Amino acid sequence: TQQPYGGETIFGKIIRRESPARILYEDQQCIAFHDIAPQAPVHFLVVPKKPIPSLSATEDADDMLLGHMMIIARRLARQQGLSQGYRIVINNGPQACQTVYHLHLHVVGGRQLKWPPC
Ligand code: 5GP
Repeated sequence: TQQPYGGETIFGKIIRRESPARILYEDQQCIAFHDIAPQAPVHFLVVPKKPIPSLSATEDADDMLLGHMMIIARRLARQQGLSQGYRIVINNGPQACQTVYHLHLHVVGGRQLKWPPC
């Protein structure tokens, strides 16, 4: 079971290769892997290796890391063929239904997304 803050999470185990994942990309700062319960034809996560629990827990000095995660998300979205668009989501805290308290970007695409209406 996940601890709301400060605990070890499944993503730490994936980073250390103690738990399997379909890894798309890795560098010194972050790792990206396919979500185990995809909400669209393409759904992957970009996760910093630094175990920051949530966006709220980031510090101003994490600006380079947060920017890097966005750049990696953009590159991987292109590699995954999401030329018609995609969505990047960060669920932050219980009211946003965050379930894994290790910061991550969701990248979701490959179908028409229904919200907002367009
Ligand atoms: P959150 O709700 O915290 O924003 O999203 C956590 C995401 O992690 C969910 O989309 C969930 O499906 C995914 N997830 C949870 N456990 C695992 C796992 O063991 N492996 C992978 N690849 N994804 C996971």
